[in-house]
Amino acid sequence: MHCHVDLYPDPIAVAREAAGENIWLLAVTTTPKAWHGTRSRLQSFKNIEVALGFHPELVHMRRAEISLFESLLPNSRYVGEVGLDGSPQYKDHYELQLTIFGRILTACKRAGGRVLTIHSRRAASRVIEALEASPGYGVAILHWFTGTRAELDSAIRLDCWYSVGPAQLESSSSVQRVAAMPRNRVLLETDGPFAKHHGHALKPTDVSTALDLLSAIWHAPASEARAQVEANQTEIWRHGE
Ligand code: MN
Repeated sequence: MHCHVDLYPDPIAVAREAAGENIWLLAVTTTPKAWHGTRSRLQSFKNIEVALGFHPELVHMRRAEISLFESLLPNSRYVGEVGLDGSPQYKDHYELQLTIFGRILTACKRAGGRVLTIHSRRAASRVIEALEASPGYGVAILHWFTGTRAELDSAIRLDCWYSVGPAQLESSSSVQRVAAMPRNRVLLETDGPFAKHHGHALKPTDVSTALDLLSAIWHAPASEARAQVEANQTEIWRHGE
């Protein structure tokens, strides 16, 4: 549910390999300008949905593109990567990030709701507050969620979803957090090619690793974990229809 297909050296090869293994995926973009070209390149793949994004690490360099985002939104049922990043290197632009994310949520609400994949590094509380302030935005999937237990409880009250990947599950604190997520709200992701596992850039086919780890975290047989995730995924695609 969160893969930067357009940023691999050969996006078409990545898309084909995923299709060959019957993996459906959400191709996120990081700037509104990237959406149209990415969709054109990938639209022949029936296993791919393309999301309209505006990454919080980039908003200060491209703030004018928010108008483009708003004008493209009626054409995209999926939104992402969007959100907030409270890391020290982006803190200077936090107010701008809040403004842009607020406009994105308002636009989603105006459009009748969207499925969003949301970045919340060091900003989980602020992301949750923003979602709370904009009912009607649609369905929120918190990608690579690393908030505290209290922040997870707030997200659960808002009925958020979570997408988890192999790189995230390398840390024991993340494993604990994932174990506390409602099972019927957990989806898979890779966040490739940014995210790496054992030194190589993750590909969509690596979701199988995340699934194995989930089955261990849930103390559930692999077949049961897979069935749960597939049911969750089916529900999300239905929201996107
Ligand atoms: Mn990402």
